Amino acid sequence: MICIPIIANNLEDALKDMEEASKFADIVELRLDYIKNPDLKLLLERRTKPVIVTNRPVREGGKFSGGEEERIASLKLAVQLHADFVDIEHDSVQHISRGMALRGPTSKTKIIVSYHNFRETPSYLTDIYQRLRQSGADIVKIVTYATNITDNIRIYELLQHAQSPLISFCMGEYGAISRILYKRFGSYLTFASLQSGRESAPGQISIQELLNTYQIRRQDNHTSIYGLIGNPVSHSISPIIHNTLFKKMNFNSIYVPFKVDNINDFMREFGGLDVKGYSVTIPHKESVISCLDAIDPIAKKIGAVNTIVNRDGQMVGFNTDCEAAIKTLEGVNQVSVKDTKDEYLKGKKVVLLGAGGAARAIAFGLKECGAQITIINRNYERAQSLASDVGCLFRKFNDLEAIEADILVNATPVGMFPAVNETPILKNKLKPPMVVFDTIYNPIETKLLRDAKSQGCKIVGGLLMFVRQAAAQFKLWTGQMPSLEMIERIAYKKLVGE
Ligand code: NAP
Repeated sequence: MICIPIIANNLEDALKDMEEASKFADIVELRLDYIKNPDLKLLLERRTKPVIVTNRPVREGGKFSGGEEERIASLKLAVQLHADFVDIEHDSVQHISRGMALRGPTSKTKIIVSYHNFRETPSYLTDIYQRLRQSGADIVKIVTYATNITDNIRIYELLQHAQSPLISFCMGEYGAISRILYKRFGSYLTFASLQSGRESAPGQISIQELLNTYQIRRQDNHTSIYGLIGNPVSHSISPIIHNTLFKKMNFNSIYVPFKVDNINDFMREFGGLDVKGYSVTIPHKESVISCLDAIDPIAKKIGAVNTIVNRDGQMVGFNTDCEAAIKTLEGVNQVSVKDTKDEYLKGKKVVLLGAGGAARAIAFGLKECGAQITIINRNYERAQSLASDVGCLFRKFNDLEAIEADILVNATPVGMFPAVNETPILKNKLKPPMVVFDTIYNPIETKLLRDAKSQGCKIVGGLLMFVRQAAAQFKLWTGQMPSLEMIERIAYKKLVGE
């Protein structure tokens, strides 16, 4: 179930928001601590969906700063007025027995006993759960703050072992997956904001994003989990691409972003969640290799993995960037994403900026095609090392302005959203007939590409590469090849809003 909190600051807006939220939510939460002079009787009379009544004090992250007696009285009134649920904080637990007595044998009001921790996810979650459960709660609620991605696993384990209805998830950016995967995790419900920017807790996701990007209504206990490992991941359009493909191609699967700092900890701790496949992005494409059980020969040669497939518990690494980049460059004279098989790259002088995961994939692909490659990277040793692995030239970053190339490839994040006015090279160094390929796809046209176009160069954006690598990834996970045009349409709509 999805619950939308009503956090309007006056009665009129609260009534309006409740009506709007009830179109999408299964339950609405009336946050009395936000609403000035709330007419609880009227609010409950107007409900069209079950209602949780909450009056959260400041000490538990709410806005109510009055006396405790007044606050408890408002919750008791909610019971008398037959609210569907009343949320009582764990440290007001002594009032629960009285509240329960008040509701009488025929009352259907369910008591939620809640614990909130805005600093961390403590190690003694089971103790908290048992204490709250024994207090006579119908439903226990335990909400903590994730300081890293593995905190979600603590919550998952708690939910897996719970013997009674439990609402549990992590707040904060790292906690987003526990909110999205609430059904797979086993939480009684998840919360969503009515609109982006109107969150009642850190990391709350808007209802539109849950419904559209994550297709959350399709999730059940058997939904297969896929996801993106990286940092940052919030800008990625991969969730909307893969979740739309899963829906259109009828797979009971969901794709979520995993913001990962320490790849070794993540791969070890998330083993128990049985994630069926991962995309891998900045900065983990190379470091993830040591965490895998097996690696495809092409990815091994490249030394970078952007796709992981869970084959009966064995994590196997692949690289779909290489073929995607080369096909995109080979199709430089074409406008559509249809495959090409020409020898466009043979003998071409290519300057490749970057020596990370994407640059590795592109360098090996270019070499196979017979291109003459020069690698230029900020970290000179890394450029040297990649050049020696591939068997090509390398130059210092300062030499960039003096380069001569048929094709310039940017495989660095310079110019990527949100730093959209940055570019790795001065405009006047871009001269036709040079082809400029920027692997960045957000924005679709980077400053580098805008500069190159205005100088008369032919330009290639990263979107087509992105489309191809995503399609190949999807095929590795599911065995089915999606339509490239469909992925391009979804990506374009998300990036440009058309
Ligand atoms: P990565 O492994 O972290 O490598 C990043 C590379 O960029 C390194 O060579 C790094 O140089 C360089 N770099 C980072 N910040 C820089 C700066 N401020 N100035 C100069 N160089 C800088 O990342 P990756 O996975 O290879 O991704 C790199 C880019 O490729 C990203 O923009 C990503 O969006 C794009 N990409 C696109 C697609 C697609 O499908 N279109 C697929 C994959 C990647 P140092 O070695 O000096 O740190």
